Amino acid sequence: MQDRCDLLVVGAGPAGSTAARYAAEAGLDVLLIERKTEIGTPVCCGEFNASPAVLAEALPNAPGLDELFPVDPGLVRRAIKGMVAVSPRGREYGFDLEGYTVDRDAFDQHLADAAVRAGAVLATETVFLGREGSRVQTSRGDVEARVVIAADGPLSRVCRLAGMERSAVLAPAVTCRVDGEFGDRLRIFFGSRIAPGGYAWVFPKRGCANVGLGVQRPAPPVPVLLRAFLSKHGFVARDVQAGFVPVSGPIRTTVRGNVLAVGDAAGQVVASNGGGIATAMICGRLAGLAAARHLLAGEPLEAYERAWRSALGRELLAAAGTKRMADRVFGSDLLIEQAMRMLGARGIRNVIVYGGVGARTGP
Ligand SMILES: Cc1cc2nc3c(=O)[nH]c(=O)nc-3n(C[C@H](O)[C@H](O)[C@H](O)COP(=O)(O)OP(=O)(O)OC[C@H]3O[C@@H](n4cnc5c(N)ncnc54)[C@H](O)[C@@H]3O)c2cc1C
Repeated sequence: MQDRCDLLVVGAGPAGSTAARYAAEAGLDVLLIERKTEIGTPVCCGEFNASPAVLAEALPNAPGLDELFPVDPGLVRRAIKGMVAVSPRGREYGFDLEGYTVDRDAFDQHLADAAVRAGAVLATETVFLGREGSRVQTSRGDVEARVVIAADGPLSRVCRLAGMERSAVLAPAVTCRVDGEFGDRLRIFFGSRIAPGGYAWVFPKRGCANVGLGVQRPAPPVPVLLRAFLSKHGFVARDVQAGFVPVSGPIRTTVRGNVLAVGDAAGQVVASNGGGIATAMICGRLAGLAAARHLLAGEPLEAYERAWRSALGRELLAAAGTKRMADRVFGSDLLIEQAMRMLGARGIRNVIVYGGVGARTGP
């Protein structure tokens, strides 16, 4: 493996691969390291992405959407037309929601391939261990890097060692696959016994569904809740994986010295629904471009912080605020029931999809 580069990107998820792609396209010598043997494997995700039109409504100031989305049609596993939100007592609220599910492993591999095609060098089975200034220790030797991008997910070691905070609230989540045909609507289920502080989901794919749930502590362990959910619906699971979703909003500072934080490492997730693939890609693009402008034109790295905050900072903060408000309701099934009835299908759509802000179109 090379022992120096302009930009070292740690983590080949959506944030890191997108950052690496844009920095390499701009002319930087980019090394993208990933601890896994196979990019995107094992899958730990609900695998749903909103359509480009929904993204443009939800994040009206985000640049680069037309370049990043729509994704290659070959990656789509099921075109999604709507969502049904199910209350604790089983009342259903249906609304339009366009999007698609993917095989997240193929999706992440596609993004990493795009980074490599742009000129980035990808090193798998390479773990970030530590950093002193521009010297980075990895499991495959030291690398001298002028800028480092922390795209190593919600438990980011790069951020921690750079003195950046970690997301204050990491919501445990679990996912699996269930065989069968599930139509073209996402289904999400609320209830303090189903998924305390969060929701359970059934996201249709081709010949199977991604089924899972995310909660807020304190709650029974997510595998226990998942088992109960699966048995209630008569589902048989395979490929169970658990992880964390940062749901307290973006961290305060995403630039420290020569380190930029992006994606889950920076808490750039829509907290009201737990979705972070698109925001990781949007911010990854901005991080890669900021690193390039810094090294090629002397622009301060802090420009990245300004860029992503003006792109989607308001929406991410609003969604985190909405999530905090919802947490008060989530303690009681009666309150959830009342809140859902009061909001109605359109209100539920706005809260989930837009975090309570943004466009208010829909049925
Ligand atoms: C159960 C679950 C379901 C979800 N469902 C959805 C959904 O349906 N839609 C959606 O939009 N979002 C969903 N999310 C959120 C989404 O998965 C994340 O927001 C998204 O993956 C963030 O991308 P990222 O690149 O920042 O981080 P990640 O995808 O986590 O990528 C980080 C990468 O860094 C690597 N890495 C970590 N540490 C090191 C190290 N020390 N050295 C080298 N490499 C390292 C990891 O192996 C990983 O490949 C879900 C999350 C969970 C947990």
